[in-house]
Amino acid sequence: MDFPNSICKNLLDNFYEGVYFLDTSKKVIYWNKSAEKITGFTSEIALANCIDMLAHIDENGDNLCEVRCPVTQTLSDGMIREEEVFFRHKEGHRVPVSVRIIPIRDETGTIVGAVEVFVDNSPHAALYSELEQLKDKANIDKLTALFTRSYGEFLLSAKVSECRKGGQSIGVLFADIDNFKNVNDVYGHEVGDLVLKMVAKTLASNVRNGDHVIRWGGEEIIILFSGCFDSVKLERIANKLRVLVQQSEVRTMEQTITVTISMGATLANENDTNETIVKRADDLMYQSKRAGRNRVTIG
Ligand code: GH3
Ligand code: MG
Ligand code: MG
Repeated sequence: MDFPNSICKNLLDNFYEGVYFLDTSKKVIYWNKSAEKITGFTSEIALANCIDMLAHIDENGDNLCEVRCPVTQTLSDGMIREEEVFFRHKEGHRVPVSVRIIPIRDETGTIVGAVEVFVDNSPHAALYSELEQLKDKANIDKLTALFTRSYGEFLLSAKVSECRKGGQSIGVLFADIDNFKNVNDVYGHEVGDLVLKMVAKTLASNVRNGDHVIRWGGEEIIILFSGCFDSVKLERIANKLRVLVQQSEVRTMEQTITVTISMGATLANENDTNETIVKRADDLMYQSKRAGRNRVTIG
């Protein structure tokens, strides 16, 4: 069975859930990265073994593989099964998992194997994700709800080093509100704060999941775009954000206030450091200021 093919494998390797494929003799033919993480068994070990090494166990400690192995049942009757069971971790302890077993059929309908998808139910798994969320909260700027500069620098370092290794390329956008001092002078600092929040929210709500919007300085914002794209696309996204800010407004009892932003945006190359890439984006932003503000300069 040559399933999953390489495209599927790539996809499945990035799943949060553990996923493995078996043939009818219960030999493992595919084992994804999350399966490695949850069970401790590498793909190499798994592929050299039958799935029985994992020994599905129920809450009473009964070995399901001896009594009523859900995988064997699905291979024989073709039914999809869902169970709460335990896996034997490589280090010996039991890992509580929710499993879903689905038969694989060939074009004639004959069962040729099964796929099992599972998630870790350990309380620590939930705890870790809570910890991640807390970590994010501690790194959120109180006024704008954007990421703080120190967290932004950490994120940028991680992305720059990934880029150096030939991984995903990144785009860095530097934005600065135009004539913001004037807003403070005319309407007061509190209204200035509302305007800054409005700009932050407009930017943060209009980027994709996985992009990061950071309050870099007073009214300076940096956006890190993940995933490879070219400067034409970067300019298109930047201009979309620029127009969205221009069209947003803060209303007070007396007036409606609008502002514009000037931007500089650039793609990282493998020789970049945090400093070189931010400086390049900052210099480009200043070119936009000199050219009359409310514009994007790409370099
Ligand atoms: P430019 O178009 O050249 O950027 O003009 P600008 O007036 O915006 O100049 P600059 O960027 O140098 O000034 C930033 C101003 O932003 C100065 C400061 O009073 C104001 N500012 C910075 N942080 C905050 C903040 O948290 N709240 C408010 N209300 N104002 C801030
Ligand atoms: Mg500024
Ligand atoms: Mg400014």
